[in-house]
Amino acid sequence: MQHLVAVLPFQKLNSIDIAARLSTKQPILNNDQLLIDDKNLEPIFDSIFPVLKQYSYRNKEQLLRLEELNDRRKFSLKQLVLGLINNHNELIDEIAQKFDISNQVLELVGELIAVPYLELSAEYFTKKLSKFHWREPFCPVCGNKPSMAKIDEQDRVKTLWCRFCDTNWTFFDKVCPHCLNDNIETQTFIFPSNNKPFRIEACDKCKNYLKTVDGRASWGEINFSVTNVATYYLDLLAKKHGYNLNNYFKFYFESN
Ligand SMILES: [Zn+2]
Ligand SMILES: [Zn+2]
Repeated sequence: MQHLVAVLPFQKLNSIDIAARLSTKQPILNNDQLLIDDKNLEPIFDSIFPVLKQYSYRNKEQLLRLEELNDRRKFSLKQLVLGLINNHNELIDEIAQKFDISNQVLELVGELIAVPYLELSAEYFTKKLSKFHWREPFCPVCGNKPSMAKIDEQDRVKTLWCRFCDTNWTFFDKVCPHCLNDNIETQTFIFPSNNKPFRIEACDKCKNYLKTVDGRASWGEINFSVTNVATYYLDLLAKKHGYNLNNYFKFYFESN
């Protein structure tokens, strides 16, 4: 991925007043624009698209259409990524209808393009970020909600993880990061019976959940990206219990 580092708009990233943004509880990257242009995303699109086409037989026709639209500059990757990151479902619906491409395919492509860009940007800010105190329910770099958490029961510190940019930050335990519900009566903890240090912490108020790793019980450092994939069964379990599935899981679960 490092060869893609050149796609970052360094001048713009350098000009951000990080202290000003974080102290006013705003993520470093402005969600409305994320400082990207289509030209930043093109090289990422070009590097992931051949692989995606090769492995996604079922959606090949739609992917080819998307590729053609993109080649002819009829389609804005930036719009797609912004729609996804900011949860603007209407925008995704609009693109889907206009080009006859399913929401699932758009969301998958959007996520595959957004992740490398946001991870590289976050890496760029990691050192600076460590100097600030951030205890918000969303990612300090890209503003997204967390997908996983690690909990150390002893000091009750919870670390949240953003799957879009691979950033970690600390937050309060027993508080839903989606709706800030802190009433334990309306939170459900699901422990799968496999003796693994994982659980689902679900909120009955907003129907969202967090996959959580017990920091003490696990061995060594947790790599969230790997653990996230290794615990897809927990997402299935959450879905079975009626909680909202993250968009990108829908692609894997419903199209295969
Ligand atoms: Zn993030
Ligand atoms: Zn909630």
